[in-house]
Amino acid sequence: GAGRGCQKIRGSQIRDVLDTKHSVLFDCDGVIWNGEKAVAGATEVVSLLKKQGKNVFFVTNNCTRPRENYVQKFSRLGFTDVAQEEIFSSAYCSAVYLRDVAKVQGKVFVIGGHGVYKELREAGVPFVEGEADDPGMTIVDCPLDSDIKAVLVGYDDKLTFLKLAKACCYLQNDDCLFLATDPDPWHPLREGRVTPGSGSLTAALETATGRKATVIGKPSCFMFECIASQFGVDPTNSLMVGDRLETDILFGANCGMDTMLTLTGVSTLEEAQAYKDDQAPEKKIYVPDYVVDTIADFLPVIED
Ligand code: PLP
Ligand code: CA
Repeated sequence: GAGRGCQKIRGSQIRDVLDTKHSVLFDCDGVIWNGEKAVAGATEVVSLLKKQGKNVFFVTNNCTRPRENYVQKFSRLGFTDVAQEEIFSSAYCSAVYLRDVAKVQGKVFVIGGHGVYKELREAGVPFVEGEADDPGMTIVDCPLDSDIKAVLVGYDDKLTFLKLAKACCYLQNDDCLFLATDPDPWHPLREGRVTPGSGSLTAALETATGRKATVIGKPSCFMFECIASQFGVDPTNSLMVGDRLETDILFGANCGMDTMLTLTGVSTLEEAQAYKDDQAPEKKIYVPDYVVDTIADFLPVIED
């Protein structure tokens, strides 16, 4: 919103912010949970916001699960009242984009996994899995499908050189769309380990082809457009809550929402402050309007 301030807020200041909002959009990993562990207090926050009549939505760049598996994850972690319709994942939104916006007349070549496959199948979008062919096969002797009209790249922990090579061949045709579920560079795992994100796979193909992928997930506004078209949500009375400045906070700002950084995930208050203090005006878009330690800080002001 106006006058992005990176303002650390608590107590009644949080109430004042929430009072002006009809909808709250939560990023998942780093905000609602960390891996398989719910953020302390998050289950109560979600229930109480709903009880107060707020729309609550979940926007995740994690394309590895179909939405029905997110419903199960929410329930496993103690969230009792989250419906599939409230979950907007980069896999689901990619399927919606291919079906309703791109209306691809042909098949999609997918670098990804179960989450992407399931959402594409449910949306009725024809695709081929970028599966590895016989061991020993190279790009010159493996068959290509002349009906491929788009390449979709998401997180793929079974990535092979041959999948990348096939995608490169398809993308030589300028009429073949180039889509990415999300641009995330890496993700924290347990015990200090990290995993490369979808963005790093997309970057390999961007280098190889000289093309730029169209991003579907945060920070692109398409995810918000999906929510708005299904629920008639207005960005000016919506709040985006996230843990990563370069995806969540930029997403909120791109879509015209007020933004809130929580410190339970990737980005730090120092990084937010550094964007605020940067001389370059184009860095201001990464500055959150508000900062809280955790969404559990909502509890004292919504408990009544
Ligand atoms: N993609 C993958 C493969 C992940 O493991 C994660 C987080 O764990 C994400 C994306 C980011 O998810 P979110 O947007 O909910 O933070
Ligand atoms: Ca996150």
